[in-house]
Amino acid sequence: MPKWQIIHEHDKCIGCGACAAIEPKHWVMEGDKAHLMESRKEGTNEIKEVEQLDGNQEAADSCPVPCIFVKKIQD
Ligand code: SF4
Repeated sequence: MPKWQIIHEHDKCIGCGACAAIEPKHWVMEGDKAHLMESRKEGTNEIKEVEQLDGNQEAADSCPVPCIFVKKIQD
C-alpha cells in the first residue's frame, strides 16, 4: 500500500530545477517547470502515491516557493 502522497502545485513552480537535481527518479524539467513523473493531474496539481519516500522530502524542503508537499497517508 502507498504510504506517502506527493503533491506538486504545478502552476506555482518557478522552474528552478532543485527538485530534479535532488531527486531525478521522480522529477524532471519540462520546459519552464518541473514535472512529477508518473503522477496524475488534479486541477493544476500533479499528485502521486508512493511506498518509498526516496528524496522527495529533501526535494520539498529545497523548493523555494514552496510548491512540493509530502503527506503521510498510512503508517
Ligand atoms: S524545486 Fe520547486 S520551484 Fe523548483 S523546479 Fe522543483 S517544483 Fe519547481
